[in-house]
Amino acid sequence: MGKRIVLADPRGFCAGVDRAILTVHTILKGSPVSVADPAALAAEGLPPVYVRRQIVHNKHVVEDLSAQGAVFVEELSEIPEAAARAGVPVVFSAHGVSPAVKAEAKARGLNVVDATCPLVGKVHREVLRFAKSGYEIVYIGHKGHDEAVGVVGESPEHVHLIEHEDDVAALDFTPDTKLVLLTQTTLSVDETAGTIAALQARFPWIEMPPSSDICYATSNRQAAVKVVAERSDCVVIVGSANSSNSVRLVEVAQEGLGERGRAHRVDDAGDLDDAWFEGVEAVGVSSGASVPEEYVDGVIAALGSKGYTEITSVETTREDMHFVLPAELRRR
Ligand code: SF4
Repeated sequence: MGKRIVLADPRGFCAGVDRAILTVHTILKGSPVSVADPAALAAEGLPPVYVRRQIVHNKHVVEDLSAQGAVFVEELSEIPEAAARAGVPVVFSAHGVSPAVKAEAKARGLNVVDATCPLVGKVHREVLRFAKSGYEIVYIGHKGHDEAVGVVGESPEHVHLIEHEDDVAALDFTPDTKLVLLTQTTLSVDETAGTIAALQARFPWIEMPPSSDICYATSNRQAAVKVVAERSDCVVIVGSANSSNSVRLVEVAQEGLGERGRAHRVDDAGDLDDAWFEGVEAVGVSSGASVPEEYVDGVIAALGSKGYTEITSVETTREDMHFVLPAELRRR
């Protein structure tokens, strides 16, 4: 067999990312969620939409929406009072926000459109339900990640964030403590299994979530890249450095490759390094849940110019998940 590409399927956009990006596009196209005339907003020097934080963790998506007029802010305090008065829509990203952010938006009378992924919203509701029933919640997630910050913010006094198996030893609960485990949606399925085993060994009474919090898109992309890595000498994952699920894909691919080769993350074809492909026959390719397919196409084209012209697709499952647009857009 000659030089070839082993392409993971599924890869790329998940239903939550698709919905979040479509939310901003819909507003940019002049959805009636805008209570002010776009021309009047422009005359006042105001944008058609603000987005709190990166709508999804992909630099190309953010650059593209910025070029179309969306203004990204880190905090709501950056949104001027004139915009609040004019009713400029403010979109919350797919990663969700804490109740404190929602309260701040309400106090300022902001015109919020909440694009939190419904699967992240499910974890928020689980925190509220378990905290109300007297549980302490062990939450496996990444400190500082937008999703983890939002979930912990639902009940900071009852949610105990840990990142790795090594953190379990620092937890201390008495056997009469009602304990439940919840997780971030974009973790590594295999690594989380190790942390869960350590938790169960130390706190045998800990309850598992009603259904896995690691979402379908994360699990499916990891399962596919595992098979791809087994059939490759090198793997390229398209995704941004701050995309949790993309970084997990690199880790899963590296685990599958072992000593045979390396897994690399790129934002686009421009990041490919010729040195990675010396002596490599099969290059595995996949992409994170926030990556537009055109950047995978770019990587495939660039690999083609290096002689990787044969493409084999590895389909491990078919996805048909779809989420409707946020309620604020459907209502108006
Ligand atoms: Fe939702 Fe999962 Fe996509 Fe995150 S990766 S936006 S939780 S579907």
